[in-house]
Formats: sequence, structure tokens, C-alpha cells
Amino acid sequence: MSAKQKPCTLAPKHKWEFVRNVTLTKASYGPSGSRVHISYRGQYKCACGEKRIGQSQRTEEAA
Ligand SMILES: [Zn+2]
Repeated sequence: MSAKQKPCTLAPKHKWEFVRNVTLTKASYGPSGSRVHISYRGQYKCACGEKRIGQSQRTEEAA
């Protein structure tokens, strides 16, 4: 995982805006069978068009 990130064209730094939560599933196979790992992440975007996956955020608001 060494993807190089493009520098922001609008600001010195990307301004990440939360878009939505995403669910990533990863299947791994071991001697005891297969396992599925589910991770909850958040998708972010910048006004310049860059996107990234970061921490998920809770969308449900406590009433
Ligand atoms: Zn940017």
C-alpha cells in the first residue's frame, strides 16, 4: 500500500469532506477454513476531485 497521493490543486492541503460510509469485505483462507473480515470505512472527497478511504463516521444520530 504505497499509493502516492496527488497534491491538492485548490489548497495547500486536501480538505476532506465525508461522503458516506462504506463496507469493505475481505475473505481470507486459512487451515481452519475461510473467514470474512468486514471493516467499516468512510469515503471522503476533496473539492479538487481526490478521494480517499478513511475512518468511518456514525451517521445515525442519537435521538
Ligand atoms: Zn484536494
